[in-house]
Amino acid sequence: MEINWNVLNDINGINKTEYLGYHQNNLVQPVKYLFNLKGEKVDHSTSLTFIVFDKTVFYATGGAQPFDTGYLIKDNKNYEVLDVEKKFIKNVYVHLVDFKNEEIKIGDVVTQKYDEKRRHNHSIHHTASHMLYTMSVKKILNLEEISQGLDEEKTWSQFTGDNVTWDKIQEIVDEVNKDVEKNIIQNEMFMSKEEAFNNGYIAYDKFIDRYDNIVRAVEFKDSTTDLCGGTHVQSTGEIKHLYLVDVESAKKGFLVTVSAFQNTINKHFIIKIKNILNQIKDIKAKILKLNNSYSLDIPYDVELSQANRNYFEYLNNLLIKIQGDFKIENKLAQIKQQEQLEKLTFNSDVKKINEINVSINNFSNQLIDNKILMPKTLKSIQVKKASIELYFNNIDNTNILLLVSADLKNKLNLNKFLDILKKYNVNYVGGGSNLICQLSINKIDKNNFENIFFEWLKNIY
Ligand SMILES: [Zn+2]
Repeated sequence: MEINWNVLNDINGINKTEYLGYHQNNLVQPVKYLFNLKGEKVDHSTSLTFIVFDKTVFYATGGAQPFDTGYLIKDNKNYEVLDVEKKFIKNVYVHLVDFKNEEIKIGDVVTQKYDEKRRHNHSIHHTASHMLYTMSVKKILNLEEISQGLDEEKTWSQFTGDNVTWDKIQEIVDEVNKDVEKNIIQNEMFMSKEEAFNNGYIAYDKFIDRYDNIVRAVEFKDSTTDLCGGTHVQSTGEIKHLYLVDVESAKKGFLVTVSAFQNTINKHFIIKIKNILNQIKDIKAKILKLNNSYSLDIPYDVELSQANRNYFEYLNNLLIKIQGDFKIENKLAQIKQQEQLEKLTFNSDVKKINEINVSINNFSNQLIDNKILMPKTLKSIQVKKASIELYFNNIDNTNILLLVSADLKNKLNLNKFLDILKKYNVNYVGGGSNLICQLSINKIDKNNFENIFFEWLKNIY
C-alpha cells in the first residue's frame, strides 16, 4: 500500500519530539496524537495509523540513515512500527503503525521497542561511512563525497576524484580496518555551534545557520569526528571488519560500497551477474536472428557462492566481446541486405531494358514499314532514377536525339558509345553536351537499330 506522507506536511501546533533513542532501546509513553492516512486527527486507531509521542526511541529517516522498525507493546500485544519519518517542519517523529483490527486511543500507554538488530546494522554501516569518508576525503585521496547511503547490509558513497583505482580504495578500507581493530570508543560531545565551527567540525560558516544552537559531535578519537544526528556503534570494534564490496563508475565519479558482512559481496555480485548474463543472452538471441550459425558458449547460471568480482569481470569481458560480435554481424547483415536490394533494383532495371527493347522494336518496325511520321517524343523511360528520352526529326534522314539525364552520364561511356555507332555504320552528329547524343541515320537498318540500343543500354551498367 502506497503511504502518502505529504498529507502531514501542513499540520501545525504539534510539539517537537524529544529523541531518546541514542542510549535506550525501549520507552513507556502515552499516545499523544493519532492521524489517519488522510492526515486527519483521530481519537482512536484504525488498521494503519500515524502516531506521535512526546518522546521516542525510534530513529526517523535522516542523515542517509534509514528509519527504525519495531513494535509498540500494550497488554502483551505487539503492534508493528513500519516506518518513522520526521514531519511537521522536520521536528516531529511520526510513526506509521499497523494496529490490525485492534483499537488504540489517545492517552493509552504503550511501550516503544525498536528492532535492535536492524538498528545495530545501521549503526555499524553509518559509523563505517564516517570512517571511510574521513579516510578518503581528508587523509588519503582528497576525494570529494557527493552522496551517501546505507542499509542493513552495506554503505555506499559516491565520490569524485582523480587517479582512483581499486587498489587505492582497498588501501583506504585497510586503513579504516586498522581503526576498527583499535576498538576506539565513541565520545559524544555537545557544544555550541560556534565552538563546533572553531574546532573545524563545521567546514563552512555559510552553513552555520543550518545547525541547532547546541550541536552533537560524535568522536572516535584519531579516526573521525562528525556533527551528526545518526546512530553509531559504541566502539569501532563492533564493526569487526569492513569488506570492500565494489568500486563502480557512476554517472558522476564513482561509487564505493563497503560492508561489515562478507556475504554481502556475493549478494551484491549475484544481482550484477544475473543482469549481465541476461544482457549476454539477449544479445546472443539478436545475433542468432542475423546469423543462425553464430555460436558462443554462455555460462548458464551462477551459484551465490560463485558470485564475486572476478567472475563478474570475466562476464563483463564476455559482454564486451559479444557486443563487438553483434556490431560485426549487424554490419554484415546490412551489407547483405544492401546487396540484395541492389540485385533487386538491377533485376527490375533489366526488366525495364527489355521493355525498352520491345518498344524500340515496335518503333523500328513502324519506321521501316510504314514510313510514318513519328511523334516528337517516342519514349521517356526511367532507369535508375535517370531518364532516357528519344526524339525524332524526320523519317528519310532520321535524326534521333538521345537525352540522357545527369545520373546516367557517368555510366554512359561516350567513347564506347561512339565505338558502337561506328561498328554499325551510324553517323554520329554530336550534341550540345554529353547528355545529348544526336544520331544521324541515313539508312535505317532494323537490326542495327536494335543492336545499337541494346549494346548501349548494356553499356549503362
Ligand atoms: Zn553519524
